[in-house]
Amino acid sequence: MLASAPREPRPPVEPYKVKVVERIRLPSREEREAALRTAGYNLFQIRSDDVYIDLLTDSGTSAMSDRQWAGMMVGDESYAGSRNFAHFEATVQELTGFPFVIPAHQGRAAENLLFSLMGRPGTVIPNNMHFDTTRAHVERNGSKAVNLAIPEAYDLASPHPFKGNVDVPKLEDLLRAGPSKVPLVMVTLTNNTGGGQPVSVANLTAVRDACRAAGVPLYLDMCRWAENSFFVREREGGMSGRTIPEIGRLCFDLADGATMSAKKDGLVNIGGFVATRDAALAARLKEQLIVFEGFPTYGGLARRDLEAASIGMREACDLDYLAHRIGQVRYLASLLDEAVIPYVRPPGGHGIYLDVRRFLPDLPSADFPGQSLVIELYREGAVRTVEVGAVMFGDGAPGDPAPLELVRLAIPRRVYTSAHLAYVAEVVRRVWDRRATIRGVRMVEAPERLRHFTAKFQPNG
Ligand SMILES: *Cc1c(COP(=O)(O)O)cnc(C)c1O
Repeated sequence: MLASAPREPRPPVEPYKVKVVERIRLPSREEREAALRTAGYNLFQIRSDDVYIDLLTDSGTSAMSDRQWAGMMVGDESYAGSRNFAHFEATVQELTGFPFVIPAHQGRAAENLLFSLMGRPGTVIPNNMHFDTTRAHVERNGSKAVNLAIPEAYDLASPHPFKGNVDVPKLEDLLRAGPSKVPLVMVTLTNNTGGGQPVSVANLTAVRDACRAAGVPLYLDMCRWAENSFFVREREGGMSGRTIPEIGRLCFDLADGATMSAKKDGLVNIGGFVATRDAALAARLKEQLIVFEGFPTYGGLARRDLEAASIGMREACDLDYLAHRIGQVRYLASLLDEAVIPYVRPPGGHGIYLDVRRFLPDLPSADFPGQSLVIELYREGAVRTVEVGAVMFGDGAPGDPAPLELVRLAIPRRVYTSAHLAYVAEVVRRVWDRRATIRGVRMVEAPERLRHFTAKFQPNG
């Protein structure tokens, strides 16, 4: 791949043209400083009007297509039996093969439904790497969340093509405890926490075999199944002739069910679901759904939202769309390469993850180097990013080190042009050039769970 890479990074050409625009503005340096102070140096607390390029998340930040907007206009807002739910259900059934589809307002609502029924004290729920909300729901229901990604996932420079893969021997060890101790196994496509890295079909097959031998169900966190399928098509032997829905089905056929945040590969601003083959579980999920989310034909959503998600999930399977999307991530990576800025390799599906330990090697975890870098990227150019490290994951058992120290530049789908990404690369570069002056921060306030959303910080003097 390196040999054929062009010398000048070339921006990928958009497979769409612009029909509606939204104005954005670069706030002045004084405005940025004031915004940081008011927000307690937590970028989640900054107003979006004070952000120029928002790479906080790719979740629910997609631009919808003209077809999706057209779908919004044919919303059948009936409480029960809406035709938009019928379309949504049929779309999910066709893409996944799972017969029972329970809509939810977003991914964590789907996780709440599933784990409140399947989690319990004294049990362990493994995953390649639990996403933050997944871990929170697993633990809230008394189970222990363990990460079983392959060792290469923790080697940020490793070029392994499937760094999202599960360490199958370790999984087999854990599964010896049997279904009473391991109620289900989750695998996240792509591994968001580990850098948006894909899982191969071969690895999923081995995971399925281990689960089947132990009598434990396998569920997929399928938020980015289309992006995962794109990598499989590109990197796994024998897959290049298959379509994205075909590769998706190869994965789903190995599993018993899935949770989905349609805010990712559903290309919508809100929505999600749980899907399963288990009729008895589906009936219990629907009972939970009615208490927490709403009637089973809307699941906490306007019916027009279900329509937009049905259309969006299909658009996410379009190869031109995926080649451009992942092309944008690679374009940003190649601009960072010009300045030899360290990030998780190979670039993932939905963003670039800066390698904070190499970016700020002199700052210990106690000084929250990832959070410090997030603050500097905002200060430098009003680019909003997110820490994936000691703040997000360091609140585990005492003495439990944060496994990774990263800053994620998540790229919203169909929102920014390559010129925006070139600006982002320039901002990262300016911070890189003055990295020796970055001092770290301390946490002065934090809630018990999901502390990264609301914690407050103070710069070290
Ligand atoms: C976003 C995400 C979730 C949670 O979905 P929400 O819609 O944000 O509640 C779960 N798992 C993964 C891997 C995610 O990226």
